[in-house]
Amino acid sequence: MENVFSKLIVDWYYTHKRDLPWRNTKDPYLIWISEIILQQTRVEQGYDYYLRFVKRFPNVDTLASADEDEVLKYWQGLGYYSRARNLHAAAKQIVMQGTFPNNYEGVRALKGVGDYTAAAICSFAYDQPYAVVDGNVNRVLSRWLLIDDPIDSNPGKKKIQEAAQLLMDKQHAAMHNQAIMEFGALQCIPSSPDCNSCPLAGSCMANARGMVDTLPIKTHKTKVSNRYFHYLFVKAGDSTFIHKRTGNDIWKNLYELPLIETKEAVDEESFLALPELHSLFNNVEAPQFRLLQRNVKHVLSHRVIYADFYEVIVPSGTESLGDCKKIKIEDIHKFAVSRLINQFFSLIL
Ligand code: SF4
Repeated sequence: MENVFSKLIVDWYYTHKRDLPWRNTKDPYLIWISEIILQQTRVEQGYDYYLRFVKRFPNVDTLASADEDEVLKYWQGLGYYSRARNLHAAAKQIVMQGTFPNNYEGVRALKGVGDYTAAAICSFAYDQPYAVVDGNVNRVLSRWLLIDDPIDSNPGKKKIQEAAQLLMDKQHAAMHNQAIMEFGALQCIPSSPDCNSCPLAGSCMANARGMVDTLPIKTHKTKVSNRYFHYLFVKAGDSTFIHKRTGNDIWKNLYELPLIETKEAVDEESFLALPELHSLFNNVEAPQFRLLQRNVKHVLSHRVIYADFYEVIVPSGTESLGDCKKIKIEDIHKFAVSRLINQFFSLIL
């Protein structure tokens, strides 16, 4: 039986697809890099990152043998830095194995690779019949089939996954998967899609029932918490101090200015009286504090950070500050830092 759904979206794809560099390759390494970059990232933003990344790390060996600091530097500004750390770890895994895995189980076993990414790599690189389900596919199928179970519930996920697998053209897995994702990205968009120009309009159940704007349904709202960061831009002559974030927290392994975090917002006077601040500068002679920026709001997926930035002038001979590293201020750009820190430096340097 002819797969009408797949034919319609593939026909649509031929005339509407964007020309993207990772679509012109069957190299699983390049496809993998593009898929990881594009998680939680818009194509427009990921495009240049992809080109820079694969120029510097054109194959799995160059990535595996690179220093993690350098990999993070190439990722700087993209966010979700665990993606870069996992890429780097998985590259080492692949080099140990000798070759890029060529089956679903092997690809899925790579660090940082979930069901979606494994299906994308296996279908795009090897034309294996694994249906991809990402946010775009969720939207297209929940509307076209009128699936009103929440897409983040187990029954909802199961229905969409089964439908995606059933509808896919198994002889042309790569093309089908590319087409349905692009269709969701450009045609069946989240708000007010142009259903009149849609090739699926005649068979789309949400369109027939006037439910396009209510689908897909999502139940679990992400819980967002506030955090209060106080950064210290310490100036010791032409040098400053930075440290590497460790532990299981945001921005792990990125560098940043010395930081004091408080449970709630504190004003300048209360901050300057904090015992943690005094113990950090215990061995430093007469530090001079000045508030440079207050309450800079930085929004992440699960957190909103409110950051204050203080300048601290200390004697140029100051050599140590807690577990921080002393560097020349002019060398700060050599270190991978969060977008928040990067923005601060672009304002003041
Ligand atoms: S008719 Fe509208 S809702 Fe249905 S698939 Fe097309 S764009 Fe999406």
